[in-house]
Amino acid sequence: MTPPAVIERPSPNCGPRRPGPDGAGQPIDMLLLHYTDMESADAALERLCDPEAEVSAHYLIDEDGAVYRLVAESDRAWHAGLAQWRGQSDVNSRSIGVELQNPGHRLGYRPFPAAQIAALTALCREILARRPIPARNLLAHSDVAPDRKLDPGELFPWRELAAAGVGLWPPAPAAASPEDLRDLLTRIGYDPAAERAVAAFQRRFRPAAIDNRPDAETAGLAAAYLALCEDAGG
Ligand SMILES: [Zn+2]
Repeated sequence: MTPPAVIERPSPNCGPRRPGPDGAGQPIDMLLLHYTDMESADAALERLCDPEAEVSAHYLIDEDGAVYRLVAESDRAWHAGLAQWRGQSDVNSRSIGVELQNPGHRLGYRPFPAAQIAALTALCREILARRPIPARNLLAHSDVAPDRKLDPGELFPWRELAAAGVGLWPPAPAAASPEDLRDLLTRIGYDPAAERAVAAFQRRFRPAAIDNRPDAETAGLAAAYLALCEDAGG
């Protein structure tokens, strides 16, 4: 699979990646997926390049598969906001952010077209081939900000991406009790203080029923997913 051609559309909304709390440089070890929450890619590009909006991402992929680069990967784009994953709270400094054009739950959420997913898959594979980003750090915005964000949402084809080597998908639920779910989610990486971590996990791994309630199937999927993560390492 060849990487998609990239259209340069530089955004001023970025800065240098920041050192960690200990003053040392941090690795770029997360890949974070979003939807734009805008009517069109043109509107999204305009907003992501507007200095007053103070938001951006490294890439935007339109529904037809066109790939735009807004921020160099070496720079810190402003896409995650208040977020946390595996104890890390400066997610922007550690991640590459990819926006997918989709009007989102606010304006008319709809399936991601095949051309868009093909371009995303190619882009992710190309990034993952040259950066040490663990498979378990392929993330939804809703994973790192469960109480604020829904994107890219329950229509996003995580399973299809995993089948193409991007991220992980649990083959079947393992044996686990609902009482263990909270601990499993924390070990996967969710913020232990988040109120909607269960919903965020369900939105991704059991999209047919997203109720934020711990149940045996969700716990079983979390146990199976955690085992996959630990096997994959990183
Ligand atoms: Zn987002």
